[in-house]
Amino acid sequence: MFKKLLPILLLCSACATAQTVAVRAGHLVDPAKGTVADNQIILIRDKKIVEVGAKVAIPADAVVVDLSQQWVLPGLVDAHTHITDNTIPSPPGASTEDHTLNTESSGFRTARGLHNADLMVHAGFLALRDVGNNMNFTDVAVEQAVETGWFKGPTIVPAGKIIAPFGGQSHKISPEAGPFWRNEYVDADGPEEIRKAVRMNIYYGAKVIKLVSDNNAYPYSVEEIKAAVTEAHAAGRKVAVHVYGGVSADNVIAGGADSIEHGFDLTDDQLKKMKAQGMFLVGTDFPLEHLAAFGGMVPQLDAQKTADNTIRRLSSANRIGVKMAFGSDVVTELPGENRVDMMFDFLRVWKKAGVSAPDTLRAWTTNGYELLGIAKEQGAIAADLAGDMIAVPENPLVNIDTLRKVDFVMKDGEILRRP
Ligand SMILES: [Zn+2]
Repeated sequence: MFKKLLPILLLCSACATAQTVAVRAGHLVDPAKGTVADNQIILIRDKKIVEVGAKVAIPADAVVVDLSQQWVLPGLVDAHTHITDNTIPSPPGASTEDHTLNTESSGFRTARGLHNADLMVHAGFLALRDVGNNMNFTDVAVEQAVETGWFKGPTIVPAGKIIAPFGGQSHKISPEAGPFWRNEYVDADGPEEIRKAVRMNIYYGAKVIKLVSDNNAYPYSVEEIKAAVTEAHAAGRKVAVHVYGGVSADNVIAGGADSIEHGFDLTDDQLKKMKAQGMFLVGTDFPLEHLAAFGGMVPQLDAQKTADNTIRRLSSANRIGVKMAFGSDVVTELPGENRVDMMFDFLRVWKKAGVSAPDTLRAWTTNGYELLGIAKEQGAIAADLAGDMIAVPENPLVNIDTLRKVDFVMKDGEILRRP
């Protein structure tokens, strides 16, 4: 028996020396500093970057990847998405979200999440934060399936169920219909219920805590926000809060949340307070075309007004110097575009708001990793970090639209796409 095992053991001692990949990067972009280093060599072994530099020796047995004509950079991050959600058109008078909840199973939602994870990683998004609307923790299921290696996808930071005042984001549901929104929301009113909701989410796998503060007539108080923040931080999780503006936003800022999601109506004073606190804005800055498509489903939405307001707010936040991370919030598909095409449409808004290419790139990469709380493991091209990188044909610090043309993707040392 042992004699039979011996050759296998010998073979495995050989396979312990993992294959080294050497990437020849013509131009290596550092989005954190906004700089480029030419003719760099990146060595990747055992899923990690082991060495980077101009004079790194390439081992004789290394697999060499020639990206000498490309700009190589860390992967993109979507800090606000819902990968298992695709808000399907609802019958007249019904809320789209409520309709989705009543017509799609958690199994189907998981399958959609896996499909979107695959789409996103191949387009260069190597990390995402999924901020709820997942039909009973299917975001956690997708994360587990990707981490197990069954499917390809970005690093996923899931939120589990959204914590909100009674009713979640549903409206005008009859008492007889029952609280079906609880498949995606936890009704939590008062600090004690919020603490319990945070713990429940963490128990089922949430790595970030998401609150919706102002979608009904009873926004969260400072005390309620603080309860979520204290409880989440004690467990090493950050808190993201959906809020548009007004007193609700004042409470979220005073409560010390880690990020404001949307924040379409934030004033300059509120943005200045966010900057002083180091609070992130994930602006989900929708292009007009997307808002017009939503408008078909949400009759009260004035697409043009919202688009103008979004550009104004993005421009102010950039001028004031608020830390921003890109978040798409894409949950629809326009004719001829898939979800990823729609995500890159947001670049138009960032340009219209006057955000420079280096600032935009930082928000779409480095800042995202910081907000997701994973910057110690990934998000820069440096020794000891994950073997994650993408490449584009032009300098993104000059032409940000080149991000649409990602033609090389490496995730955890595995090449998923090459020119
Ligand atoms: Zn959202």
